[in-house]
Amino acid sequence: MGSLGHQLHILFFPFLAHGHMIPTVDMAKLFASRGVKTTIITTPLNAPLFSKTIQKTKDLGFDIDIQTIKFPAAEAGLPEGCENTDAFITDENAGEMTKKFFVATTFLQEPFEKVLQERHPDCVVADMFFPWATDAAAKFGIPRLVFHGTSNFALSAGECVRLYEPYKKVSSDYEPFVVPHLPGGIKLTRKQLPDFVRENVQNDFTKLVKASKESELRSFGVIFNSFYELEPAYADYYRKVLGRRAWNVGPVSLCNRDIEDKSGRGKEASIDQHECLRWLDSKKPNSVVYICFGSMASFSASQLKEIATGLEASGQQFIWVVRRNKNSEEDKEDWLPEGFEERMEDKGLIIRGWAPQVLILDHEAIGAFVTHCGWNSTLEGITAGKPLITWPISAEQFYNEKLVTDVLKTGVGVGVKEWVRVRGDHVKSEAVEKAITRIMVGEEAEEKRSRANKLGEIARKAVEEGGSSWSDFNALIEELRSYRP
Ligand code: UDP
Repeated sequence: MGSLGHQLHILFFPFLAHGHMIPTVDMAKLFASRGVKTTIITTPLNAPLFSKTIQKTKDLGFDIDIQTIKFPAAEAGLPEGCENTDAFITDENAGEMTKKFFVATTFLQEPFEKVLQERHPDCVVADMFFPWATDAAAKFGIPRLVFHGTSNFALSAGECVRLYEPYKKVSSDYEPFVVPHLPGGIKLTRKQLPDFVRENVQNDFTKLVKASKESELRSFGVIFNSFYELEPAYADYYRKVLGRRAWNVGPVSLCNRDIEDKSGRGKEASIDQHECLRWLDSKKPNSVVYICFGSMASFSASQLKEIATGLEASGQQFIWVVRRNKNSEEDKEDWLPEGFEERMEDKGLIIRGWAPQVLILDHEAIGAFVTHCGWNSTLEGITAGKPLITWPISAEQFYNEKLVTDVLKTGVGVGVKEWVRVRGDHVKSEAVEKAITRIMVGEEAEEKRSRANKLGEIARKAVEEGGSSWSDFNALIEELRSYRP
């Protein structure tokens, strides 16, 4: 097996949501391409989401496979066929369904242990939402790595907020506080923190987060889809001050090199990739704004209208991903200004559904990316060398925004003030127009673009031979190998 010596076997077990499965599959492909035998555990209905790309990797001669385990939907009171968060995220009962979904995932422990017993891998990379995976792996003497799917910055900032509770020391929801002990003097407000943090709520979800923290401390370490040069102060903080063992092996999306790989991530794209490329090819470099809010967020009709109005007023060309299907009930709602599509015929492309995001971002015509700051999207934008307009909604997205706007200085915020669960804050069209103009036109835009371009180059170097992620990968593999009998 070449210079890496005896072949290791690593099992990857992603949480059942696109934002977790996509980077885990990329990571498994990365490991396989570097000579590691990899197996991805998932459920029958999720396997087809990545079986094609896995087959392609296999055809190249790499050792990669999927192993399915049954998803206990009915046992948790969920309808059959509900095997990932897609099935209910826009449902009226999303809250209830989410709870049941998390319950169902705890039932995965038993089949997971069976796989461990049968396959006995050298290591397991299991999602942070599976806190029981550390003990399950320990039963068989297998080291467990945690995959959070976010940045060193966000995890470090979250930990500082949790430990020092700065939000309790301000007099109002909108009074900024500095995140204590975190390098960089990062400022946030109480309203930008998750509701369960700022309101000190105890519920099933906070219990899960607590269990996840505890299991992380007992695990072998943490694996990041990030690269050292992106956030050195925070990668160091996470390791040296917070005392975690961590490896940065990203950006993992770079393992997708050709058109098919780049457009085949997650769900099937709602636009033919060649048609999409033809459209982009007809545009000048840096002349198109790409707008997409990840796989979970959804907006009200009135918010979509504000976006459309802001876009039109900015005068910029755009690709806008809207998760509404043509001719669906939702689409009958009046979410576009009158005559918008006709007026924008040459200027804009609306993708209803799923976009081939990395393919789009990597195109030279894209001049900026309006993102909800999910970590995958943020890192994909950074890796493509694009300046960002940050529009965080929930999860740890407000931290990622700060990394982009205040530390990397490759983006501008659209001005979101409040963390919400799913539906985005009400941002006015004027704010949308202003942020787009600021990132696309003028001296500040040039400066941000040149900084973003440089960062993209550094990202690509990180995963090449001799780069920081390449080296972290080697260090991890060597250490795992040293445990082999
Ligand atoms: N994505 C995509 N097409 C879409 C929407 C999302 O390919 O239309 C991908 C995107 O490239 C990223 C992932 O889905 O890899 C979303 O992850 P992220 O962490 O950005 O956000 P989440 O969906 O978890 O909120």
